[in-house]
Amino acid sequence: MVSRVRVLYLAGSGRSGSTLVTTILGQLPGFVAAGEVRYLWRRGLVENRPCGCGRPLRSCPVWTAVLRDVPGSDPAGVAARLGGRLRIRRLPVLLRRHRRGQPSVPGHPDDARLARLYPAIARHVGAVPAPAEPSGPSAAGESEPARVPNPPPAGRVVVDSSKLPPYGALLGDLPGVDLYVLHLVRDPRATAFSWRRRRRLDGDLDDRLMSRPPVWKAALLWLVWNATTLRLWAGTGRYLRVRYEDFVADPAGTVARIAGFVGVDPGELPFPTPDTVRLAPTHSVAGNPARHRTGVVSVVADNEWVTALPRWAYAVVTALTWPLLRRFGYPIRRPAPPFTARPTRATTAGTSPAGGGSETGPRDHPATPLGGHRTSPDAHGQGG
Ligand SMILES: [Zn+2]
Repeated sequence: MVSRVRVLYLAGSGRSGSTLVTTILGQLPGFVAAGEVRYLWRRGLVENRPCGCGRPLRSCPVWTAVLRDVPGSDPAGVAARLGGRLRIRRLPVLLRRHRRGQPSVPGHPDDARLARLYPAIARHVGAVPAPAEPSGPSAAGESEPARVPNPPPAGRVVVDSSKLPPYGALLGDLPGVDLYVLHLVRDPRATAFSWRRRRRLDGDLDDRLMSRPPVWKAALLWLVWNATTLRLWAGTGRYLRVRYEDFVADPAGTVARIAGFVGVDPGELPFPTPDTVRLAPTHSVAGNPARHRTGVVSVVADNEWVTALPRWAYAVVTALTWPLLRRFGYPIRRPAPPFTARPTRATTAGTSPAGGGSETGPRDHPATPLGGHRTSPDAHGQGG
C-alpha cells in the first residue's frame, strides 16, 4: 500500500512561466518544487544535469535519498519507454480512452516506480533554508548545506512542472497520487517569440541549446497541448487555470489562490514588495535555467515580443491559435507597444535580478506590466 500524495501538476505548453511559478511555490512551507519530473530519468539520472541546488543530480543528497526509496535501475530505459508512451501521435488514442473512462495511458510495469517516486519526493525534497541575505546565483551551491532531510510535515504538495498533458494523465491514474492540475497559459505570440530565443539548456556553461521550433510549430503545439489540457481536466473540480500575464501582475494574490486551490495555508508569502520575490534554491529537476536564480528577484512581464515579433509571425500564430485566444481572453489584434519596452535580453521566464534595484523599481512597471493585454478591451475576463 503506497501513501497518498498530493501532486500539483503544471499543465499546458512550454515557455509559459512554469519554472518561475514552480520555484516560487517551492518557497512555501506546504510545497515541494520538484521541477519537470518527467525528465528525471534522462536529464537527471542519465545526463547528470544540475539539480536546482546546483549540484549534478546524482550528487544531490536529496535526490539520492529519494531514489533509495524507488528501487530499480536502467533510467535510460525508463526514459525511452516513457517518451514512447507519451508521444503526440498517440494523442487520439489517449483522448478516446479518456472519454471511455479507461486509464488514458495504458499501464506499464514502470508505473510502479513512478507510484513510489512521488511519495518519496514529498518525503525527502524539502525547502532549502533561505540564505541569510540575498545572494547571487554563484552563492546558491554554498548556501545549501548537505543535510539529511527530515520527514516532511504531513500533507506536503509536490509541484511537478512537466507540463505535457499525457504525462499528467498518466500521473492521475497512478495509485497514491492525488492530482490537482494548474493550467498555466501564456499568450501564444509571446511563447512563439520566446521559443525563437537562443537559450542554453542549463545556463551559460552548457554547450547544448534548448530546441527552437519555428513559429508555426510553436503555435500548433500551444494549441494542441492547451486544448488537450482543457479536454482532460477543465470542469473537473481539480482544475485551476492561471494566465502568466495575470500571475506577473499580481504574484502574491495568484500564489495565494493556487495554495487555496490545493488546500494549503501558504503562511507568510516570500514577496518583499508587490513585484519582487525572495528565492532560496530548490531541488527542482530539469526546467529552464531560471530555476537557479536566488535572492531577491523581480517578477516582471517579459513583453519584448509585443514590439519584436515580426508582423508575419504574429499573423501566423494568431491564425493558428485564435479559437483558444478568445477563450483565454487574449486579443486578436496586436497590443499597443508596452509602456516600457526595455531590453529584456537578461530576463528569463519573467524574472530578472533585482539586486541593482534602481532601474527596476516598482514605478518602472506600474499597474500595466502586461502592456497591451490589460489595456485591450479584448483582454478582460478569463474566458471559458
Ligand atoms: Zn539538489
